[in-house]
Amino acid sequence: MHIVVCIKQVPDSAQIRVHPVTNTIMRQGVPTIINPYDLFALEAALRLRDEYGGEVTVLTMGPPMAEDSLRKALTFGADRAVLLTDRFFAGSDTLATSYALSMALKKIDEVFGAADIVFTGKQTIDGDTAQVGPGIAKRNKLLQLTYVSKIANLDLAGGKIRVERRAEGGVQVLETKLPVLITMLEGTNEMRRGSMPDALRAARAEIVTWSAKDAGIEDVMKCGLRGSPTVVKRVFAPAARAEKAKLVEIQPKAADTADALIETIFGGLAGLETELVELHQTL
Ligand SMILES: Cc1cc2nc3c(=O)[nH]c(=O)nc-3n(C[C@H](O)[C@H](O)[C@H](O)COP(=O)(O)OP(=O)(O)OC[C@H]3O[C@@H](n4cnc5c(N)ncnc54)[C@H](O)[C@@H]3O)c2cc1C
Repeated sequence: MHIVVCIKQVPDSAQIRVHPVTNTIMRQGVPTIINPYDLFALEAALRLRDEYGGEVTVLTMGPPMAEDSLRKALTFGADRAVLLTDRFFAGSDTLATSYALSMALKKIDEVFGAADIVFTGKQTIDGDTAQVGPGIAKRNKLLQLTYVSKIANLDLAGGKIRVERRAEGGVQVLETKLPVLITMLEGTNEMRRGSMPDALRAARAEIVTWSAKDAGIEDVMKCGLRGSPTVVKRVFAPAARAEKAKLVEIQPKAADTADALIETIFGGLAGLETELVELHQTL
């Protein structure tokens, strides 16, 4: 079995700052991490590999420094890492990103064996669009299972997979044929710690590095800024709200607490109590 996991290196959002004058995100000096959703996808892939055998390849498109994320994924136990990097990819929106990744996935199929499952995270914490996974599936004619919370069963001999999908108001159980693209939700499993042998292997591992040409992309006009129809018209930070939360000092006894709250609410809104009583009488 061959599983490919797409991972993206993203700025650690907890440390992102907005430029006070230009209101643009200041990325310089911000540490990077693997997109957290992609870690859940990676863990799901590693568990399947551990149970059924096979290999896990991790793939990222990004600048040369994205290699750090790939090495981290190897530390967790991935078998192979592919870095798709080229100046032609700079400024890619989701259309261009999914195009480049879909081409790299075809190349991976060719060079390392056809993928049975392609995993992506549900979304990233920087772009936040959740479009790249479905974009790849559409381009590579893969069936897709999105917002997956659990891999319920894999029937390799029968070429089928059953998953649980979080949907509004409940959970759907879906089954489909392989090969498939799965977008994985957060909180679905607990990420393992990397082992010492894997850490040593990761430090020395060869990262397969492909340019656009290596990945079989002939039309670079579909990549990067030139292949990206998305236009950012304005970037702004939300204005700070004038009103502040109010700390209400209350008595420790339950009855006193209720009285104090009622007093605080109705005391500040003259007439509300009468209105509510009248409304109640009309119902
Ligand atoms: C309005 C707008 C304007 C933008 N402008 C720019 C810009 O000018 N310059 C710029 O650099 N970026 C820009 N971006 C960000 C860029 O579009 C995204 O980084 C990129 O297209 C991926 O989209 P996403 O982060 O929303 O991924 P999502 O669709 O949320 O990601 C879903 C999953 O796809 C996979 N994935 C996504 N990206 C990669 C990747 N690179 N490698 C491997 N796997 C991946 C991951 O598994 C991820 O969990 C912009 C985004 C938006 C919304």
